Amino acid sequence: MTPGLLVLAGPTAVGKGSVAGYIRENFPDVHLSVSATTRAPRPGETEGVSYFFVDDAEFDRLVAEGELLEWAIVHNANRYGTPRGPVDAAIAAGHSVLLEIDLQGARSVREAMPEAKLIFLLPPSWDELVRRLTGRGTENAEEQARRLETAKLELAAQDEFDYRVVNHTVSEAAREVVDLMQIRKDSARP
Ligand code: 5GP
Repeated sequence: MTPGLLVLAGPTAVGKGSVAGYIRENFPDVHLSVSATTRAPRPGETEGVSYFFVDDAEFDRLVAEGELLEWAIVHNANRYGTPRGPVDAAIAAGHSVLLEIDLQGARSVREAMPEAKLIFLLPPSWDELVRRLTGRGTENAEEQARRLETAKLELAAQDEFDYRVVNHTVSEAAREVVDLMQIRKDSARP
């Protein structure tokens, strides 16, 4: 596998977390970055696996000390950021690194590391995206509406990405993402 940085972005509830989780389980050569966030854990999420759950003061410290490769306020609510150290270490050890982050983060990575490959994960349709968001039931109606607004903006930015993958099924989408790690970035679609 060609070592390098791969960004997986896409609208809320499209299944980025599921695709990333499938890659973690099935492709151990790929290092999955674990973000820091000020968001509270959801049921079933594990510290250090899903996220590093930190308070505002700790997030401030990470930013001030330059420990984050990128960070953003997502859905006008919480802060999320990619710890730099583990990414550098994994690349130095010859692994591919996958960042599952939002559009703002993808743009920051593209600026900071132009060689990174940017993948946009798409739902099969808008209606299916709404179904996935409401079906998982982890957000209240207000939060769902906010996330769908963000999703519209994110979908409009898909042409900024090097590649697009439609998430029909998690296993197929994960395979496509892993296949994209192997190819040279200069053969990307414009
Ligand atoms: P959730 O709260 O559903 O876990 O994630 C909300 C959003 O934050 C998702 O779009 C996810 O991709 C994004 N996100 C997670 N970690 C990071 C990160 O480290 N940086 C940025 N910019 N976005 C992130």
